[in-house]
Amino acid sequence: MSIRVKCRHCKKEMGHLTGQSVLQHGRVKQMKEEFSEEFITENEEGILTVNSICEHCEKSLLDNPDYYAMQKWIQ
Ligand SMILES: [Zn+2]
Repeated sequence: MSIRVKCRHCKKEMGHLTGQSVLQHGRVKQMKEEFSEEFITENEEGILTVNSICEHCEKSLLDNPDYYAMQKWIQ
């Protein structure tokens, strides 16, 4: 069991959770409730990727909401 947390804007890896502790604490279930399905992807190896947002992009987003809104449209 492995979970990667990535920034969906700059693709930077923010964190990596592995092992039993993830399951024991029910993190996956919690994360699935916390984030909508579209933000969590699972690959063929069973690795979950959570598409989140890093501190840097969050700050940029707050500073330039229009810029990021535009980017989202283009994608
Ligand atoms: Zn980022």
